[in-house]
Amino acid sequence: MSAGSGRVVLRAGAATDVGRLRPNNQDSYALLPEKGIYVVADGMGGAQGGEVASRMAIETITESYSEPSVDALAQVIAEANERIHAASERPNLRGMGTTTVAIALIPDEPDGRRVNGGRGADTLEPYEQLLVVNVGDSRAYLFRDGGLTQLTDDHSVVAELVRDGRITAVEAEAHPQRNIITRVLGVYPQVTPDIWPIDPIRGDRYLLCSDGLFNEVSDDQMSSVLRRLADPTEAANELVRLANEGGGRDNITVIVLDVVDDGGAAERASAALAGEAQGSSRAGARDLAGFSTAVGESRAGTAKGRKGKAKAKRASTGPSLFKRARRRVTWRVLVFTLMLAAVIGGAFATIQWYGTSTYYVGFHGDEVAIYQGRPGGLLWIDPTLEQDTAIKRDEVPVLYITALEAGHEHSSLADAKAYVSRIERDIIERAERAESATTTTTAPPTTAAPPSTAAN
Ligand code: MG
Repeated sequence: MSAGSGRVVLRAGAATDVGRLRPNNQDSYALLPEKGIYVVADGMGGAQGGEVASRMAIETITESYSEPSVDALAQVIAEANERIHAASERPNLRGMGTTTVAIALIPDEPDGRRVNGGRGADTLEPYEQLLVVNVGDSRAYLFRDGGLTQLTDDHSVVAELVRDGRITAVEAEAHPQRNIITRVLGVYPQVTPDIWPIDPIRGDRYLLCSDGLFNEVSDDQMSSVLRRLADPTEAANELVRLANEGGGRDNITVIVLDVVDDGGAAERASAALAGEAQGSSRAGARDLAGFSTAVGESRAGTAKGRKGKAKAKRASTGPSLFKRARRRVTWRVLVFTLMLAAVIGGAFATIQWYGTSTYYVGFHGDEVAIYQGRPGGLLWIDPTLEQDTAIKRDEVPVLYITALEAGHEHSSLADAKAYVSRIERDIIERAERAESATTTTTAPPTTAAPPSTAAN
């Protein structure tokens, strides 16, 4: 359809509800497809404070987020924090704050861009990513291949205790401090959001929600709705209905965001798979599923074979019987051996493909490098160094460090190179900004030194 467009296409639906106990709805949300950003905010503090804080966060993003980039996103979060913090000086709004969880589409130059990083010019493919942004304990989930994964870390006292291994998830549910959040917009003069990139794949569904949803609705229920209802608005409405059915003790807000087109990433991946392993990724998954089934079958087969052998031994006084039994055993063993060999061969090929078909960007000593394979390797397949870059670890903006340390995966070498170029551009832009700032402040001494220039 529009798969060849090279652009990521998203479709969103949302629902919000006051719930069954609260007097007002202090959650706010925005779907801003024209800016490529989708936000949920859950306000807190006083009778009106929460409502005002979450609305201010949404308004600031709506008004001030103009250029889609990591920096612009970090900046607009900082601006929202400052505005809410300043407004909370008013007595009736004292102590107000809000969570914010958002997904933003960050497009790259549509026609590619030449970058000369000292290693020759390189033309880039168009490249788009989603950024997840989080402050507080609202959540972003990814629903992919039928499985639901929580993407965000809750910035809450209990979540930190669970992460440190000091209490269990079950203990957290009844913990007296379960409502205390450790990061929030508007309460302190500054805030550090979590921001990280994620590659969109067609068919992915993202779920952004306030705690009024996941405190009432289990992961299984959420998965079931996301599996059943293809329309994002219908899915959002159904999730809100289930939260009310579960108790509705808090305001509930849900955004369901679907990746309708991933700009050809899935096609590229399956084309690579068709070329290298002669099958689609689904066929690969079937191979693996078939592997476990077939192992079960062959175990049953071996047991039967043993039984046959035992019978054969017991019947060994009659040579003809022995012969027949033996022939039957051989035939079965042969069939099962062949089946098992075929299945294991297929599984090995699939694993071999899976272990080497992708690339990732990580650190090679103190430099950024591109590797082929999976971060940390896969079974017997170690990643191999594809290409070093001249980017030093201490030049890399802090935003990328976590991703690079874990290994940032890409479906093709071109994508990995594009990611490296992105980091490179970021470094250059930051350096230019720093330089222009320095030039401005040191302007007088520079103009006062023409003789030294003349001496050259
Ligand atoms: Mg809430």
